[in-house]
Amino acid sequence: EAFVAKVSAAKALNAFLVETPDHALAAADAADAAKAAGETLKPLAGVPIGMKDLFCTKGVPATAASLILDGFTPTYESTVSGKLFAAGAGMLGKLNMDQFAMGSSNETSAFGNVISPWKRNDGGNAALTPGGSSGGSAAAIAARLCPGATGTDTGGSIRQPAAFTGIAGIKPTYGRCSRWGVVAFASSLDQAGPMAHDVRDCAILLEAMTGFDAKDATSLDLAVPAWEAGLSADLRGKTIGIPKEYRVEGMPPEIDALWQQGIAWMKDAGAEVIEVSLPHTKYALPAYYIIAPAEASSNLARYDGVRYGLRDLPEGANLQDMYAATRAAGFGDEVKRRIMIGTYVLSAGFYDAYFTQASKVRTLIARDFEHAFQKCDYLLTPTAPSAAFALGEKQADPIAMYLNDVFTVPASLAGLPAMSVPGGLDAQGLPLGLQIIGRPLDEQGVLNAGL
Ligand code: GLN
Repeated sequence: EAFVAKVSAAKALNAFLVETPDHALAAADAADAAKAAGETLKPLAGVPIGMKDLFCTKGVPATAASLILDGFTPTYESTVSGKLFAAGAGMLGKLNMDQFAMGSSNETSAFGNVISPWKRNDGGNAALTPGGSSGGSAAAIAARLCPGATGTDTGGSIRQPAAFTGIAGIKPTYGRCSRWGVVAFASSLDQAGPMAHDVRDCAILLEAMTGFDAKDATSLDLAVPAWEAGLSADLRGKTIGIPKEYRVEGMPPEIDALWQQGIAWMKDAGAEVIEVSLPHTKYALPAYYIIAPAEASSNLARYDGVRYGLRDLPEGANLQDMYAATRAAGFGDEVKRRIMIGTYVLSAGFYDAYFTQASKVRTLIARDFEHAFQKCDYLLTPTAPSAAFALGEKQADPIAMYLNDVFTVPASLAGLPAMSVPGGLDAQGLPLGLQIIGRPLDEQGVLNAGL
């Protein structure tokens, strides 16, 4: 009840698109009843969580923060939300996000940006971005509206908002969490994961979300490890790699200081720290911004005014007119930009020069990581190249916005588990995040290094 009341009182943050108090309260009642009956409680019994609006939940509107899904109410449950509910969790509501998860600031939402609960301590009063695309999830947790939430991460959308709001978030190995019932952005990159106050809560949520699903062709058929029980902050015998290519030109001094602090913490926990090289890092961002829009342009072809949500049928229009009018009215500018880039790089004359080339680069980046992991167990980097910026600051310049993802995108291209953990505050009192990247399937190691 306290969380339900807080969510409803925090409308100014614009973190929730839909509130579902009855769902959260029913889960709490079920937990109380189980407790009264002396039953063993489920792992998330009565825990109220927020759900990124990219997840379809039965009977509750799902918009992906786009007008094109206006009026769409899923008749089915995504595998991940279903697993969380089966573990006893209740849903406080659906969380705002960048439209179709395309963005790094939550400003591409058709329903207005989320406002971070953080403020600079130097008197600067500008409203700050919570990051994106899982900005609603991050802001809701940071503002203590919910103890945990789902996020999705295609190129950094769990990690960067976690860093901007001083919380933790993990993107597991590609294939750990089912994509079934999650609105698709770039299918070879999309991965769900938890966001919460700390590493332990992430481990608990991740355990509930993970598991094989025959309905997702890329789902990994593996048992779910007992991540929470396996947590250990002892890093003796482990080697941490510091990728030298991540020391990008013009890196702000506070980001470098954060990194040095992270290195000191790793050494304190008993780890050895070495420098490693990931030589193709500088090609990761351009490769990502070819591959992700290419896949998006294909995935978003389904929004045609026939099957889902919005239909704009001008007087006397034929089918083609209806497609055009619906897509023109329904998609936001960033989504349209991605569709145009995506269809261009996939078109007959340019396919080899862009899409094939980017796919080759992707393989080279994955090999860089394989080589590095012969020398070290985990990689430690900053999560983002800056602290949270002011809303509006980067909106007019897509390239400046894309540069936010410079440290998160490589692990996405390689499908590796990666986590952002709180790393302290900068001189303006804003949170910064440290990223830990691990070998495929080594979520346990990533969580332990983050602890
Ligand atoms: N900011 C990146 C993009 O806009 C990543 C988004 C995401 O991970 N969903 O593509």
